[in-house]
Amino acid sequence: ARGLVWFRSDLRMQDNSALYRASQCCEYLAALFIACPHNWKSHGEGDALVAFRMACLHELQTRLQTRNIPLYCLNISTFSQVPKALQQVALRLKIEGVFANAEYPINEQRRDHAVRDILCKSGIHIEYYSDRTLLPPGSVRTGNGEPYKVFTPFKRTLLQLCAESAVNPLPVPRKMPILDGGSHWPKWLEMGRGVRLTQKIPSQLPHYSIDNTVTGMVKGWKAGEKEAQKRLKLFGERITRYQAERDFPALDSTSRLSPYLNSGAISIRQCAYMALSLNDGNWQGGSEGIACWISELIWREFYTHLLVDFPRLSKGQPFKLETERIPWVYNQKLFDCWGRGETGVPIVDAAMHQLNESAWMHNRLRMIVASFLSKNMLIDWRWGERYFMQHLIDGDFASNNGGWQWTASTGTDAAPYFRVFNPYSQSQKFDPDGTFIRRYIPELASLNNREIHNPPPVSGYPQVICDVGAGRKRAIAVFARLK
Ligand code: FAD
Repeated sequence: ARGLVWFRSDLRMQDNSALYRASQCCEYLAALFIACPHNWKSHGEGDALVAFRMACLHELQTRLQTRNIPLYCLNISTFSQVPKALQQVALRLKIEGVFANAEYPINEQRRDHAVRDILCKSGIHIEYYSDRTLLPPGSVRTGNGEPYKVFTPFKRTLLQLCAESAVNPLPVPRKMPILDGGSHWPKWLEMGRGVRLTQKIPSQLPHYSIDNTVTGMVKGWKAGEKEAQKRLKLFGERITRYQAERDFPALDSTSRLSPYLNSGAISIRQCAYMALSLNDGNWQGGSEGIACWISELIWREFYTHLLVDFPRLSKGQPFKLETERIPWVYNQKLFDCWGRGETGVPIVDAAMHQLNESAWMHNRLRMIVASFLSKNMLIDWRWGERYFMQHLIDGDFASNNGGWQWTASTGTDAAPYFRVFNPYSQSQKFDPDGTFIRRYIPELASLNNREIHNPPPVSGYPQVICDVGAGRKRAIAVFARLK
């Protein structure tokens, strides 16, 4: 039988549930990626994210060739065109079964249901695998069978369930036989209406500038599965220091695996497996650094599970519905200053420069800038969420939405509304000698370690754009009024 693996956000050959199962069930195997740049754009996905995805796809194609699995690419526009296009591809390639790993935001789920319906009508089987999380969404429940709304008990139950079965990453697929004893999969197919199925990954996409894919390097990030494995291994050498050092943005102490996890160049099981193997197989206890890192992986898990249980999160709504009544500020000018890193608060500005220059931001800083925008300036968190998506190389709907709603106190298990990050004391605590600020704001480099967090007027550096203390009081007051 001929099978087709439909790759989406799982761009790797090792430990890929859909790919592995397909290689076991089918005699011959081809792979497909469908680019939907119009939809990606409407989801706010930015150049760095998309360029990185396409660069990972290049690497994957080369790796799949070593297994005699040709990777086709279809370049269409929107998710709504996917079902028909996939049906056509499957019919033309005489495919009997399609294999894919599940995706959880609501538009992706709707697309996948529509694909299932249309393939069913053509007698083609499709199977979606749970692969993005340690446990399938919906499988971690309270005693009453309800979804968890608070992280700590979710984590407790998840750890209990995980401890009951071993994490065993899947091997790479076997080398597949060449089609029909010597003939080959077609190099390309004309699909009609100007659409062509080819084995060429597009070097240009409408709405996007993705020039970097040729070198496989996007803003200093090398794409692909091989690089992800290298980073995981290197991080393993310093993981025991993770808990002590992870909050200091000047140190390179976190794994920086997020772009790889989100494009699927590495799996969550591979990450957990590495951590467990350094911790005598234990999910808890042992090294504090390792336990702490596992806990962070579980935050990702928590936010992904929530998306499935609470579809409103995919529809721009807050988890706490009463926070819809917050009189958010929609001040474009203030927002633009925040985006450009010109707020006059050094730690906020340095963080935004890190994002704008490297397409990534340290977790502590994400919380600080998100709190500054949504609390001190009371600007709608959804503006910030979108800006992050447009600029992050690791943009992930579940974690981004979860992180913003947590910080803005609109989410599940959110920071209590009266706890507003003070950007100055955060700066003193987590960048005590201003190393991080100096790296990104050269105008402040000559200030001493005390002044650098809240500087006197400095030529070339803006004055503070809002009253930080009054902003904090206003935020607490508007949230208190909801009670
Ligand atoms: P490490 O510290 O090495 O952690 C390992 C992995 O655990 C990460 O790669 C990530 O997959 C997961 N993880 C760690 N912390 C969190 C967390 N708080 N929430 C969810 N998962 C976590 N993460 C994204 O992957 N994509 C996003 O778009 C995103 N947006 C965020 C927005 C805000 C406002 C906040 C506060 C956090 C956001 N995060 C997001 C979570 C976190 O900041 C990043 O995952 C982390 O900084 C990535 O760096 P790392 O790979 O070195 O992480």
